[in-house]
Parts: sequence; C-alpha cells; structure tokens
Amino acid sequence: MNIAILALQGDFAEHEAVFRALGCDTFQIRQKNDLQLHADALILPGGESTVQGKLLRELELMEILRERIGNGLPVMATCAGTILLARQLLDDPVSHFGTLNAVVRRNAYGRQLDSFFIHGSFAGLPDVPMSFIRAPQFEFCAPGTEVLAEYQGRITAVRQGNQLAMTFHPELYSDHRVASWFLSEIVQKKRPV
Ligand code: GLN
Repeated sequence: MNIAILALQGDFAEHEAVFRALGCDTFQIRQKNDLQLHADALILPGGESTVQGKLLRELELMEILRERIGNGLPVMATCAGTILLARQLLDDPVSHFGTLNAVVRRNAYGRQLDSFFIHGSFAGLPDVPMSFIRAPQFEFCAPGTEVLAEYQGRITAVRQGNQLAMTFHPELYSDHRVASWFLSEIVQKKRPV
C-alpha cells in the first residue's frame, strides 16, 4: 500500500511514522512532481490550515488534489486537514478543498479547553487516545454522513464516502487503531463515487 502524505506544514512526520509502522510505503507531497507517484490514499495532517491552504495554492497542488479526492481517492484528515476538506468554514469566507459536505468552526473549544486529551470510542473501538489541539468542530454534516466519534455531544469524526475527517489527533500515540481502521475499512473497501 502506497500512502501519500501532504508534507507542507504540520505533523506529517507523525502520520508517516504510523503508516510505516503498519507496513505501508509512504511518500511526501511537497511539490507538483510528487503527484506523479501512485497513491492508494492521501493523508492531510494537523497544523495550521491557513498556511497549508496558502501553500497548496501557491504550489499549484490544490486543484489536482481536489479533483483526485472528488474522484474517490481515500483521504484521512486530522484537525487542520479536516478544515481543508470542509465545504464551508463558519468564521472564514474562504474554503479549501471543499470536498466534505460539512460546515466547520475553527478553534471551537475556547480558551480553557484550548488543548486537551481524552480516551474515546472511534467506530466502535474503545479507549482510543485522542488529542484535541486548538481543534475545530463540526457545526453541520450532510445527511448520510457516518458519525464515527463524539465527545460531549459534539461530533469529532465522520466518514463521507472515502473521506475520513477527524477534529482530533490520533497519530501522536503508539496506538495505531484509527489508521489501521482507515486502511481496512476505507482504502481496502473503497467505494465508487
Ligand atoms: N487551529 C488550527 C487551524 O485552524 C488547527 C489545529 C490543529 O491542526 N491541531 O488550522
């Protein structure tokens, strides 16, 4: 399995380590040339979505990747990556890929809960470690969205077609069950668009 990891900014190295530990081949996407390699899936890391969006446009990666995601390339996004996927951002006039039919609010947890750690259930898997770091929140998800995780009544992970989007970071821990679930349930059972 060949996993492409967007490596413009943010915690791409952590994602890379997880997929390597799971036995995948990985490569980084930093420039247009990198898009020539075949990818079975794309990973959008956490970080700063405004910086990532700006670089995606400047490096002319945005349109090609949007088209591939729209054509069903499996994608896994954490935190800033989820902001990149959302159709609409509540507090921002721009959107980025816009392939996920959801409205997302950035930095939604306010000052006191700016960053926090929990163990939560993900797609029926118990006690998954999850870090929320200046995390966004889903304000709306289109009908038919599969909700995979929730915390205190807020949706924290969704699946739409071949897109998996989370508002937390599961990739910072040695527990790799979320990435493993993505490989077995989305990449290996890719749905037609
Ligand atoms: N707050 C960041 C943003 O708006 C996301 C934070 C993260 O990826 N941990 O892009």
